[in-house]
Amino acid sequence: MLEASYKMDFNEKKGFICDMDGVIYHGNRILPGVAEFIQWLHEEEKEYLFLTNNSGYTPRELNQKLARMGLDVPEEHFYTSALATAAFLKEQAPGCSVFAIGEAGLLNALYDAGLTMNDVNPDYVVVGEGRTYSLDTLTKATNLVMAGAKLIGANSDVSGPIENGIAPACRALIAPIEMATGKQAYFCGKPNPLMMRTGLRMLHCHSAEAVMVGDRMDTDVISGLESGMSTVLVLSGVSTRETLQTYAYRPSIVLDGVGDIPALAKAAKEK
Ligand SMILES: [Mg+2]
Repeated sequence: MLEASYKMDFNEKKGFICDMDGVIYHGNRILPGVAEFIQWLHEEEKEYLFLTNNSGYTPRELNQKLARMGLDVPEEHFYTSALATAAFLKEQAPGCSVFAIGEAGLLNALYDAGLTMNDVNPDYVVVGEGRTYSLDTLTKATNLVMAGAKLIGANSDVSGPIENGIAPACRALIAPIEMATGKQAYFCGKPNPLMMRTGLRMLHCHSAEAVMVGDRMDTDVISGLESGMSTVLVLSGVSTRETLQTYAYRPSIVLDGVGDIPALAKAAKEK
């Protein structure tokens, strides 16, 4: 069942950064072993963050989403590309102003970071996914960038899964502004290692003591690797053993799902 390509003792790790979609749930369905994994994190007093590139939800909404699946994860354990974007802007230009296209998750994060909204002469145009996207907001954003505002994307995902197919995500939504202005956006979410470094700071963890857990080689594993963390690829989501072979890098360990983590940790303790 398990392929321990590299010996890792999870008992020795202090912090865990876990992707959500394909790791914790698929749509509204919780994946096997997740409850045991969360219980283990709590019992062993591990530091942990649940991470998503989706900028639309606030930590409170994510807390409620997991509560509907029977999981109790306090708000402070969620980390989104919206929070990463807000942290980035706060560090780069404290108190700056932004014109933002996105949902509550993004807008709340920007306000909480002390930034102000400005649709006349903002320092930045920030784009996330959401229903406020329209030709009007695109036109507005395009002209603000032409006038000198810097262009920021919450994440560089091109699409995301929905019930009956896929929906264009942030990278695809910001493309018209890039094309019209000739300016390239800067993206703050995964696979930008910046998101992992900020996450590590939130966990008060050094990278060597931390593990990135995800289901995608091209975002989760690469960003964990490039920030110096150990990496776990779980096969409960997008990447498979076959796709794994096509990358020049590999995760520290490949597991069927996060339920294997407490099982391996307990087995290592009993040795
Ligand atoms: Mg995922």
